[in-house]
Amino acid sequence: MYAMRRWSARHSSTLKALYHQIENLLVKLYPKLEKVGIQKIEKPLMFIEKPAKSFLFDSQSCGQCTLGSTGMSCPMNCPKTIRNGPCGGVRANGKCEVKPEMDCVWVVAWEGTQNLKPEERAIQIVQPMLDWRLKGKSAWLRAAEQKVRELRS
Ligand code: SF4
Repeated sequence: MYAMRRWSARHSSTLKALYHQIENLLVKLYPKLEKVGIQKIEKPLMFIEKPAKSFLFDSQSCGQCTLGSTGMSCPMNCPKTIRNGPCGGVRANGKCEVKPEMDCVWVVAWEGTQNLKPEERAIQIVQPMLDWRLKGKSAWLRAAEQKVRELRS
């Protein structure tokens, strides 16, 4: 829902903190999840993650969440799915060149980023290319996996 997208960017600080808590919880639980089998966790976790993120961000479940870096504005709602935006066509009034009825998701991302503490702002970090093999998978689980890998190395 478009109005919720805007709301989420306005409340990016709270939502980013909530994301951290989810990640920390999954990192703590990770050894237990491994025993059960990470593959088996994927579906039940997506049962919660997908509707929650669809409602708040119009998430497209790309499996590689950048919300923490983009002011809680999902770049997958850009008609060109640009992961490092905006494109050259964003209008002077901040509207999208492809869908003039909506604000450019990268303008919203910039606004959402301004609500974060300076040390939390990561919008200028270049995002890697999208791995389409991860579409539909749990981005929360991927983030926890990455954190666990870093802690174990
Ligand atoms: S104006 Fe913004 S939302 Fe529209 S296509 Fe360009 S980057 Fe994407």
